[in-house]
Amino acid sequence: MSTLATVLEQLDQAADRLGVEPQIHQHLRHPKRSLIVSVPIQTDAGELEVFTGYRVQHSMTLGPSKGGIRYHPDVDLDEVTALAMLMTWKCALMGLPYGGAKGGVRCDPSKLSFRELERLTRRYASEIYLCIGPDRDIPAPDMGTNEQVMAWVMDTYSMQRGTTVPGVVTNKPVLLGGSLGRVEATGRGVAYVTAEGMAHLGLLLSGARVVVQGFGNVGSVAARLLHEMGCRVVAVSDVGGGSYNPEGLDLEALQAHLRSGQPVRQYPEGDAITNEELLQLPCEILVPAALGGQLTAGNAGAVRARLIVEGANGPTTAEADRLLREGGVFILPDILANAGGVIVSYFEWVQDLQFFFWKEDEVNSRLRDILTAAFRRTLALASRERVDLRTAALMEAVDRVARATRLRGFYP
Ligand code: NAD
Repeated sequence: MSTLATVLEQLDQAADRLGVEPQIHQHLRHPKRSLIVSVPIQTDAGELEVFTGYRVQHSMTLGPSKGGIRYHPDVDLDEVTALAMLMTWKCALMGLPYGGAKGGVRCDPSKLSFRELERLTRRYASEIYLCIGPDRDIPAPDMGTNEQVMAWVMDTYSMQRGTTVPGVVTNKPVLLGGSLGRVEATGRGVAYVTAEGMAHLGLLLSGARVVVQGFGNVGSVAARLLHEMGCRVVAVSDVGGGSYNPEGLDLEALQAHLRSGQPVRQYPEGDAITNEELLQLPCEILVPAALGGQLTAGNAGAVRARLIVEGANGPTTAEADRLLREGGVFILPDILANAGGVIVSYFEWVQDLQFFFWKEDEVNSRLRDILTAAFRRTLALASRERVDLRTAALMEAVDRVARATRLRGFYP
């Protein structure tokens, strides 16, 4: 089942439970705007290569749309649409004044040189220029993109406008109007909600075994902060596989190993494992923080975690979700668990619009307040409605967007 099919099924279930009228339900099933662009660039060898880029704006009902830009070989319109829809729910669940969007370019960034990446980014940004802006649609990084890519998007947009517009993207370098705490925000949020989830289950963080799939921005920060909270990170992975040490991995040594250009699976202090094996390791906390669709009907039965914290977007298929819950696994859904990034992106945008910047402590403590409140609201709704946390989170989010749609009405 594709990520889009999964996300649509989740929406249908939430809308049915809420009794959302069919017109609004239909409206929510469709993105407001989908843009497909071709991105021709000159390679360093002087050849022309043409990539395909996307920007999907699912909703702008609650405010300008917000969502990342992904560079990955699997990017396609369906995936970007699904991720844009998830952004709508995530922003609504957190009470942010945003709709949802997502973008991407189908490419393998690891095969592009620094200059090719810059040309690709600047051309893509030029192609989507008309539909982005601080009051329209505000991109951020996602898989395969980073602060540098955001700096190029901001600069390209600013050159077209003839003035510097820091608020057009978030997760920029701090020097260019980025927020302190933004780089770590998603992983930090994952750690905060994990602590809430463990407390709810009556489990101790101290000594709890953690397994993290994907050791990028989200996974590596979540792993480090959970380690600082007393957990034992026993396995992590990247695209090429993972490393497992039941006594706990030395994360600093692992980072040094990665900085030397070697993959996770070759880390000498752990056993090399595949990503599939990693998902089946005995642990208290499993954090999928790579791609969507990783936990499926085919492997859900083998998962031995007590708590799954979805750092990635859409890592669990609908069928796997049901099987895992039946098996007693508690799942903190993506739109709750990985919302730390968009929350601090919101703080960054507010700071950019005001040209007034906050201290890191303030960013982190406001992040914790918003996330913890959202977790508790969602938990209360789940117990009131006797539903799982994902359904409750979606119900709260869909209800908010549906009510706003009702108030605004259908133009004309
Ligand atoms: P990243 O590019 O920094 O890291 C991704 C990691 O996943 C890398 O270690 C990569 O090697 C690994 N990976 C890639 N393909 C894999 C595969 N097939 N199997 C196992 N590992 C694989 O990306 P990121 O920003 O950390 O994003 C990770 C996930 O978190 C994505 O699903 C993204 O949508 C989601 N997310 C990110 C943010 C953010 O602020 N960065 C916010 C919310 C959600």
